[in-house]
This record gives sequence, C-alpha cells and structure tokens, in this order.
Amino acid sequence: METPDAFAAVTTDGAPVAESGAAQEVLRRVFGYDSFRGDQREIVEHVVGGGDALVLMPTGGGKSLCYQVPALVRPGVGVVVSPLIALMQDQVDALSALGVRAGFLNSTQFPDERRMVEAQFVAGELDLLYLAPERLRLESSAALLDRGKVALFAIDEAHCVSQWGHDFRPDYLGLSMLHERWPDVPRIALTATATAKTRDEIIERLDLGAARRFVASFDRPNIQYRIEPKNRPDRQLLDFIKAEHAGDAGIVYCLSRNSVEKTAAFLTENGVEAVPYHAGLDSRTRAANQARFLREDGLVVVATIAFGMGIDKPDVRFVAHLDLPKSVEGYYQETGRAGRDGLPSTAWMVYGLADVVQQRKMIDSSDGDATHRRQLQLHLDAMLALCETVSCRRTQLLAYFGQSGQSCGNCDTCLTAPETWDGTVPAQKVLSTVLRLKRERGQSFGAGHIVDILLGKSNPKVLQHDHHELKVFGIGTDLRDVEWRGVIRQLLAQGLLAVHGDYGVLILTEASNEVLFDGREVLLRREPERAVKPARTPKAAKGKSPAADLSTADVPLFEKLREWRAATAKEQG
Ligand code: ADP
Ligand code: MG
Ligand code: ZN
Repeated sequence: METPDAFAAVTTDGAPVAESGAAQEVLRRVFGYDSFRGDQREIVEHVVGGGDALVLMPTGGGKSLCYQVPALVRPGVGVVVSPLIALMQDQVDALSALGVRAGFLNSTQFPDERRMVEAQFVAGELDLLYLAPERLRLESSAALLDRGKVALFAIDEAHCVSQWGHDFRPDYLGLSMLHERWPDVPRIALTATATAKTRDEIIERLDLGAARRFVASFDRPNIQYRIEPKNRPDRQLLDFIKAEHAGDAGIVYCLSRNSVEKTAAFLTENGVEAVPYHAGLDSRTRAANQARFLREDGLVVVATIAFGMGIDKPDVRFVAHLDLPKSVEGYYQETGRAGRDGLPSTAWMVYGLADVVQQRKMIDSSDGDATHRRQLQLHLDAMLALCETVSCRRTQLLAYFGQSGQSCGNCDTCLTAPETWDGTVPAQKVLSTVLRLKRERGQSFGAGHIVDILLGKSNPKVLQHDHHELKVFGIGTDLRDVEWRGVIRQLLAQGLLAVHGDYGVLILTEASNEVLFDGREVLLRREPERAVKPARTPKAAKGKSPAADLSTADVPLFEKLREWRAATAKEQG
C-alpha cells in the first residue's frame, strides 16, 4: 500500500524524526488544524517521546488527537482500545477520508474482514488499529500484536475499568497485561470522567502509577448554573426563555417521551418555536428535527437524553432540565452542550420532591444486582447534593471532578446566598408521622398524604383511614404545603427518609432513628421564593427597565446577572 503524501516528512523509513516539528506537521497536513488546543501539544510530545500518560479532559476537549498524532509520528501502528464498537466504523471512515490508514477488529465483523485487517497490521500497512477490549482477552490477539510493530497503546474511555463507575466493562480489567507483555510500548489512557476515586482506580488497575498526568480544567466559565424549585415546570420554562433567551437556540431535556411532546407543543403554542426529539419518533422525523436545530437560528429542541451525542452546535445559548439527571456526569455532559462558542449561556434546571421520589423508585425497580443499584444510588446522591447545596454550584460541580476553585459569583447560590436553618423539629414531625402510621396502623403512604396529615386536612382519604384521629394530625400548621414538600425532599436527599415500592411510599431509614431518638440535628436549605423572577411577558416590560416587573428584592440579582453577562461577553471579544 502506498504511503500517503502527508506522512512523507514524518516517517522516513520508520525512524523517529524531529518530534515537535513532526507532530505540528501531522496536525496541519493530515488533520488540517493550525494549532494544538490546551494540553494537546505537551501530551503529544510526551507520548511521541515514549512516555506513559493519563489524560483527563472533558468531552469535546479533543482527546483523540492526543493519540492519533503520536501514532502517526512514531514508527508502527497505534493500537486503540475502545468500548465504543458501534462508532468504530465511523471513526475508521473519518480517518480514511483524511488519508490515514486505519482499521478495526471487533466481534461484529466477518472472519474474512478480520483476517484482512490482521494481515494489514502485520505488514505495517496501518497507522491506527481500533480494538474492542474483549479481543485482547484472546491469546490470538496478543500473538497478533507480537507479529507487528505497536507504536503505542491508547486506552480510550479509561474510566471503564472502574467498578464504581457507570460504565464498567469487565474486559478493561485485563488491560493491565499490556504493560506486562509490552513494557516498552508507551500507553496513553484517556477519559472525561475524572472523579478522584475513578482516577485512582484507573491508575491502579492499569498500572499507570508512573504515568504523567494531564488534567484539563473542567470549568466552563461562560455557563451560568441555576437550579430552582419546581412547581409549574412548563410555565417556569416559558418564563425563563421569554425573559432571558427569547429568540435563542436551546435544548430542553425531559425524562419521558410524553413530556417531551407536551413541552414542545406548549412552547410552540406560546410563541417559542420548539421541536421534539426522542427515540420513539421515526428516524426521518428525528433526522429532520435535528437538521433544523443545527441549521436554523433560535430553534428550541425538546428532547430526551437520546439527543446530543455528537451534536456540535456552537451557539446553543441555554440547556434546560425539566427533570433531574441521574448523575452529575450526565448533568455536566448535557449542560456542557451550551455555549461551545464561549459566549454567556445558561444551564437552568427545575427540581422538586417528585423528582427525588421518581428517581428512587426507578433505582428500586432497575435490573441488576445490589451492587449496581448501590452505584445508581451513589450517582443520584451526588446529583441531589448538587441540587441542595448552599454553596457555589460551580465549585461543587468541579469538586466532583476533582478540581478545586473559588466561588464563581454568578451561579444562583452565589447570587442569592441561600441560608441553612435548623429543621430538626419539622424533620421530627415528618418522621414521627411516618413512624406512627407504620407502628399504630401498619400503613405507609406517599409524601402528599403525609403533608395532608401534618396540615390537618380533613380530606376524603384522611377520613377514610381515620387519620384525623392520629396524635400527629395537624401538628404541622406552622409551615405551608410547599414548605413541607421542600422539607421532605431534603430529608430524602440527605438519606434521612427513603422511598419504597411502586407507589413511592415513605419509609424510615437507620438515620431517621437518629433524628427521632438520638438528638441528631437536621440542617435544611432555606428555599428561595423564586431565585430569579423574570418579567411576565416581554410586552409588560416594554418601555421600562428590564427589571421593572421584578419584586424589589430581585432587582439587585437581576442587575448582577446582566453585569456578569456583559462582562463575559466582552472577555470573549
Ligand atoms: P473528545 O474525545 O475529548 O470528546 P474529540 O477528540 O472527539 O473530543 O474532539 C472533539 C472535537 O474537537 C472534534 O471535532 C475535533 O476535530 C476537534 N478538535 C480537537 N482538537 C482540535 C484542535 N487542535 N484544533 C481544532 N479542532 C480540534
Ligand atoms: Mg473521545
Ligand atoms: Zn457560584
């Protein structure tokens, strides 16, 4: 096979050439980019020089070039281990279009195809070979690698070795043998999931203790993070868009197909043009809606999380969540689709008691063993902690990815400085109501009914069960309905109360007992009445300052928000 022209300056009969210049040349001539981004240059030079590397970089940060360029510069074939079998053909096609000689080996191939790729590898006719991790378990694959020359091993999506992660692949555990069997071949492990725990596991399991670490910042300074109490999500979303993002492109995430459809229709009826996107739509409608979103200015797409993989639209001005994501990783990836162009953008979410109940129920009824459920639970707990925090959301988000920083000054918690209050007594009231129903009546109920009992509401359900005769009936008239729901939500988030079964009934936990009987104190977050109260309609605000319709308390907040936007926009030039 002919060596493409682009490499003429790079691989002179297999000998390493002036490395930095060669890498730059490959970047320019093969990939068509003028310069490396962020840490790419350093990473590439390190690996070209034969060093091991661990690369933590957010999705879209440009991890692929970190191994593709060294694979082209170093003599031999770059072997890429990737769990994304479905994408291998696309990746190989994209590389081929650039004149890079690439192939893949996975279980979806016919033996003939596989043999052809193997022959190319042995003959040194490939630059990159993508390998499914399960192939490495086979001695035949290891023997194959011995028959050719390996330039480097790239382990993509390296977090798959983590048994606590959401993407664990048992085959990744076998990858430690790469180092034992080929100690002289440099290895580069890459991931966008970088919690401290995952990082340690990657280093340990892949034997990368001596590897140089490259940790890119996960901060997205042009995104403003806001999480608000959910009451009428559709209405809140409409208000948010009209007040802050009229005419902007945005993505709205919902959990169910049904709410995707309803929300898209609601927005469109109310003057915000929106299209739905979910796996239940036929592929033509989906493709058409996606194409419109990419092409048109200011279209809103309402979608399930099926939407977004590989969407690279730079000017998405807001990402809204009407339902709680299952993990902080998910939240980060989804909100990360806003503001790729660096201009000010908003990550906005509403969240309430029903979200917690629903997610806990989903975990209970999920397939898989106890360990798997525990993982899901840990992911949800981290997400809830982000929702309930009284400190800076950005700081908390970055801390999750192992990065420290100072309060950002522009997320909703920085702007509103929510306080904590001593919620021990209300917590005890809720818990003892749940306890009494169980002990005295052998009954369990959902949050709504518990609140009715606390408020002393003599509704039919209460009367039917004689719950007005309970000692706890009406002990909670000091708080309003929404406040009780907030208390219960936070108790659930803190693990001081649990949800059980298909009906989502409330049950006590070990920790509930500490509150009831051992004097454990409960700190709760004071709910902001409304974090940012936007103008009702653009018309109402006409001729007045944009803050004219805000309650006085909200005016400074709104002004601060505008200042931040202006400043961020200016920084971007
Ligand atoms: P990741 O694997 O980290 O999610 P990719 O490697 O898929 O990211 O890269 C994301 C996008 O960024 C791709 O479209 C890629 O071509 C582009 N990209 C990466 N590095 C550069 C660069 N140095 N200059 C311009 N574009 C780049
Ligand atoms: Mg990638
Ligand atoms: Zn902040």
